Amino acid sequence: MSVAYKALPFEGEKGSWTVFMSLCKGCGLCMEKCPKGCLSWSSHLGAYGTPTIEPNMDDCTACGICKAVCPDCAIAVVKKK
Ligand code: SF4
Ligand code: SF4
Repeated sequence: MSVAYKALPFEGEKGSWTVFMSLCKGCGLCMEKCPKGCLSWSSHLGAYGTPTIEPNMDDCTACGICKAVCPDCAIAVVKKK
């Protein structure tokens, strides 16, 4: 059996950034740790009916820190070569 997670992808100059909304519990840790301060709350709701997050891709460097700190593996970041 496979489980599908609803993904919301964003594309930027430095890479792609995706949130898996059903995994995000809205803890805000990613937002706190983003060195560019480019994450904000989204109108899309997550696992507990709490807001998920979305990036401003004009500022995102695709560094992957948000992905690394998320305790629920709700973020995927792929840096462009
Ligand atoms: S990849 Fe880096 S710059 Fe982009 S949102 Fe995550 S922590 Fe911020
Ligand atoms: S750290 Fe993970 S669970 Fe917490 S708000 Fe960010 S994406 Fe959602």
